[in-house]
Amino acid sequence: MPLVTPRGFAPIEPVDFVPLDTLPAVGPRVGPGVGPGVGPAAVDLPNDADPRALAGRFDAIRLIRIPFPKADDGRGFSLARRLRDLGYRGRLRAQGHVISDQFRYALDCGFDEVEIDDGHAQRQPEAHWRSDAGRRSYRDKLRGRAAPAAFPAPADTHAETVTEVTHYTDRLFRFRMTRPATFRFRSGEFVMIGLPDAKKPLFRAYSIASPAWDDGLEFFSIKVPGGPLTERLQRIRPGDTVLMKKKATGTLVNDALTPGQRLYLFATGTGIAPFASLVRDPETYEKFGQVVLVHTCRTTAELQYGVELVAAAKADPLVGDEAGTRLLHYATTTREASPRMGRITARVESGALFRDLGLPRLDPVTDRAMICGSIAMIKDVKALCEAAGLTEGANNRPAEFVVERAFVG
Ligand SMILES: Cc1cc2nc3c(=O)[nH]c(=O)nc-3n(C[C@H](O)[C@H](O)[C@H](O)COP(=O)(O)OP(=O)(O)OC[C@H]3O[C@@H](n4cnc5c(N)ncnc54)[C@H](O)[C@@H]3O)c2cc1C
Repeated sequence: MPLVTPRGFAPIEPVDFVPLDTLPAVGPRVGPGVGPGVGPAAVDLPNDADPRALAGRFDAIRLIRIPFPKADDGRGFSLARRLRDLGYRGRLRAQGHVISDQFRYALDCGFDEVEIDDGHAQRQPEAHWRSDAGRRSYRDKLRGRAAPAAFPAPADTHAETVTEVTHYTDRLFRFRMTRPATFRFRSGEFVMIGLPDAKKPLFRAYSIASPAWDDGLEFFSIKVPGGPLTERLQRIRPGDTVLMKKKATGTLVNDALTPGQRLYLFATGTGIAPFASLVRDPETYEKFGQVVLVHTCRTTAELQYGVELVAAAKADPLVGDEAGTRLLHYATTTREASPRMGRITARVESGALFRDLGLPRLDPVTDRAMICGSIAMIKDVKALCEAAGLTEGANNRPAEFVVERAFVG
């Protein structure tokens, strides 16, 4: 059973891993030779653990091992990144379903090594992993494409610096970048972003996932295989430049809705991005007594961004008091089995959504809605809102619900 490291395969030294709950509750252990990354313990950390629970105890840990139990479960990547962001400097090991094409991501997320079994090592021998650690993705290798050249930013754009990148799955990632002092937007709006790799760069619409008060800008992105922008955008790293057009716009804003008691935010996939902005904005809770974030993805790993978002909103010093009691999160999957399976439309139509949350059915007197997802999802949820008596609004004509496509096509 080898250990894959950036230098190649290495034998696995015998280590006694302990479960997380056997570590002392708080504070580092002190003693000779104990410092960051050289602490006495090797810990098995479940991939759904909250890394903040470990933050005061990093000095007591020299090695953390995170499992990748299934090929489509990428939660370990974001957990590794968060551990590094929180200051963990010791060894970080991935164990299980990480393939050589993901090795580069694993290293980017902060892993030092990957533990694989003998069968895996036979299927993917050392040479496969070495070429990927060389920092070119398999698609680059297939196309023989060189790293993009840098061009000056066009006059109508801001050139901003990437500060953080978190990969959730092979299809989804989030990044943060600096915010220009002059850039203003309303929570829920979108902006055009691109990369400085051509004289006339390609721009795509992106909802701003951070709230209007935030010093930085956050985006939640798809990775489209062969996608003209995201094929390259998914490889950004802290320190890289992202271009952003100067004007933000969009219909998913509080101003486009008339006041109501309850705000439903219906999203599929990356359609949650504008709502990530709105659920962290105090204005949303000033206008609505209750906010119900409904998010549907194919798998539970794809729901992780929303799970972290809601946890962060509830712990946020600015909106935590409101979000703590008034923000409801309702997440469903369509392909992978989970406690709540099924499309949003089916759960609204059947009434399951309302029963599960203990809420009455949609009512134009009390309820407002925003919808963001694929064209098909928008069409269906819009029809359900209209059937319940809600009227579509816009910036210049506020009403009871608004829609925006999460992508074109
Ligand atoms: C108003 C608006 C806001 C948007 N906000 C976001 C956002 O916050 N995050 C984001 O990732 N994308 C968002 N998009 C989509 C984004 O503009 C790009 O389409 C996406 O980044 C892919 O770019 P691409 O050049 O790689 O591929 P494209 O050529 O743009 O897309 C290729 C194909 O990939 C599929 N696709 C594109 N985007 C998505 C997606 N988000 N989810 C699922 N399938 C998709 C579609 O079938 C599309 O035809 C938004 C689009 C619009 C219109």
